[in-house]
Amino acid sequence: MWRSKAPRGADAGCAFLCSPDGASVDLLTSTELRDLLAQQHVILSKRFGQNFLIDRASLAGIASHLPAGESIVFIEIGAGALALTGTLASRGKRVVAFEIDDRLRKVHDVLLVRDPLNARIDMRYEDGLNANWTSLVNPDETPILVGNLPYLRSTDTVLKLVQTGRICRAYLMFQREFADRLTARPGRHEYGSLSVVLQTFFAVERLMDLPPDVFFPRPDVHSALLGLDRHPAGLADEETTSFLRFVHGAFLHRRKKLADFFRRTGVPLTGDFAAVSELRPEALSPTDFVDLFHSVSPARNHT
Ligand code: SAM
Repeated sequence: MWRSKAPRGADAGCAFLCSPDGASVDLLTSTELRDLLAQQHVILSKRFGQNFLIDRASLAGIASHLPAGESIVFIEIGAGALALTGTLASRGKRVVAFEIDDRLRKVHDVLLVRDPLNARIDMRYEDGLNANWTSLVNPDETPILVGNLPYLRSTDTVLKLVQTGRICRAYLMFQREFADRLTARPGRHEYGSLSVVLQTFFAVERLMDLPPDVFFPRPDVHSALLGLDRHPAGLADEETTSFLRFVHGAFLHRRKKLADFFRRTGVPLTGDFAAVSELRPEALSPTDFVDLFHSVSPARNHT
């Protein structure tokens, strides 16, 4: 049977700026996690992608990439068994942690009851992708998004992040193949509309690869941690939605030349657009897409 042992993080003795290896956080082993879940009668759900981090070295690796500071508010999507939440609490002013599965509340109550940092953890049992992230922080705070979400919600996460201008940094874990798409460069077969959209708004860095056995239960897939830093997109705020639609439309038939997309959207195939209409969408960089978006906008019948 799992029993609460030393207070989580009690050995840290650090209010902020813990050692970057995150060693102060008491991560559950697979046996402790299994026992705690059994004790609380929680059966993990595949639908919610409940594969929890159990590897201390991986947690230390993740922690080493995370910033720390008194103005930082971490917004965590998918707290699970709080593997990352304690580390985030030790590195920022507070954590707003979303968990969609209300059954985990009982598990959290056990884990948080003796945690000296629990006053900094604001648990919310709701869909973190439906939340208004901007409203969670005050003007003088720095929001940082952190999450490890199921594959099915990865696209929603990226699109919401891009459209939430208040969030300038994020650390997100994705299935490896999805991370490959987000980091792909023009010309690569993984390069697509999501690569263009994310890289238009963010500098994307692949920070770590995580094999299946660092999670419990062991998933069938590998994961990768990406670090995202917002950079100027060259678009006005009010252009964002039509830019996303534009890029999506251009990649709808990715094997066809852009002439096909131009015909569908009323862009002339003559003049300045003649040469580019001969290219496939995957040949254009994110900056090329922004330039094309601006130059075709006045020439199109509709957006
Ligand atoms: N962060 C923990 C870790 O690394 O061990 C848990 C990761 S687990 C892969 C994903 C967690 O996200 C699960 O606990 C799941 O219930 C939760 N989840 C899935 N979709 C969610 C959503 N839309 N909003 C909030 N939580 C979600």
